[in-house]
Amino acid sequence: MPRPILATIHIAAMQHNLAVVRARTPGARVWGVVKAFGYGHGLERAMRGFAEADGLALVELDNAIRLRELGWKKPIMLLEGFFGFDDLHTMAGYRLQSAVHCEEQLAWLEAADADLGQRGIRFDLHLKMNTGMNRLGFKPEAYAGAHARLVALACVGNITLMTHFANADEAAHPLLPVAEQIRRFEAGAAGLPGMRSLSNSAGVLRQDELDGVLRNDWVRPGIMLYGATPGTTPAADYGLRPAMTLSSEIIGVQDIAAGEAVGYGSRFTADGPMRIGVVACGYADGYPRHAPLGTPVLVDGVRTRVVGRVSMDMLTVDLTQIATARVGSRVVLWGEGLPIDEVAQAAGTIGYELMCALAPRVAVVEG
Ligand SMILES: *Cc1c(COP(=O)(O)O)cnc(C)c1O
Repeated sequence: MPRPILATIHIAAMQHNLAVVRARTPGARVWGVVKAFGYGHGLERAMRGFAEADGLALVELDNAIRLRELGWKKPIMLLEGFFGFDDLHTMAGYRLQSAVHCEEQLAWLEAADADLGQRGIRFDLHLKMNTGMNRLGFKPEAYAGAHARLVALACVGNITLMTHFANADEAAHPLLPVAEQIRRFEAGAAGLPGMRSLSNSAGVLRQDELDGVLRNDWVRPGIMLYGATPGTTPAADYGLRPAMTLSSEIIGVQDIAAGEAVGYGSRFTADGPMRIGVVACGYADGYPRHAPLGTPVLVDGVRTRVVGRVSMDMLTVDLTQIATARVGSRVVLWGEGLPIDEVAQAAGTIGYELMCALAPRVAVVEG
């Protein structure tokens, strides 16, 4: 029998979550964001889960090629853009769209224009504006100039106007509220033709509230498609369903007395008699080593807590109140019945990091 840890990917939940996106952003086209191997769910599975999306977006050129080889015919876009001059030929060969966010990318396009234009190649590009995130993009005052340089090129087809939100998951961020980013975007893009692409999951989830000001022709949700949330409202409140369940089993039980300790560093000490369950799941499976005492876990469907340090291959849980639990009992680390966001919050991180960190040694099934 294989080691009992298993990630179950729920393709139907992905399909359902895509429908939730569509219901919240009527009329917008949807990029399913599948970077980082579909946020850890598997590139090919994400492609099938989001088969009804209008396009797939990611940051890895090799995985974009892989999507074409897997038969994806609709648009594919590179969210971080291309990384060098030679990538333009790959993009042409595989019909990839790309963000354009810096001077260097404009210069590469200009240098390749005569050759690509003559061969009839037309890239659909997404000109990115830096509206305060200060990662990628042209400043609002430089935006129209960059746009004009793209328009002048024979190898450029459609130009979509794009920006990215820093704080759309917070109602009113004191430094950079989402409404301020929208205002800067509208100012920088004033008078320019083209479709607009602003919202990540957090923007999609606030579309109702921002309906008067936030206009998207394309939205770019990632995390919500996988059934988790960028903010603090439980994903289930939006009707989202987890796309990944990480489960394992109890592989050992120890009865301990008051004063006895558990695991490396003897960090946890029992203050009365306890039953400790040992779960075949550790940080080498992608479970966060920093998960502290009290991080939630389900055993036989009953909620209990992590006790002691998470080690490479195992973690230990409190079974004192779960009389039925024994070797072979099912353990859910996150997913159906236990939102990944709750586990992440207990461990001081976000659901994104946990799902992306699912380790290669974990067997994956669909169900
Ligand atoms: C990752 C990414 C997204 C998706 O973000 P979520 O918070 O997962 O919805 C959207 N746009 C860009 C540019 C990204 O890099």
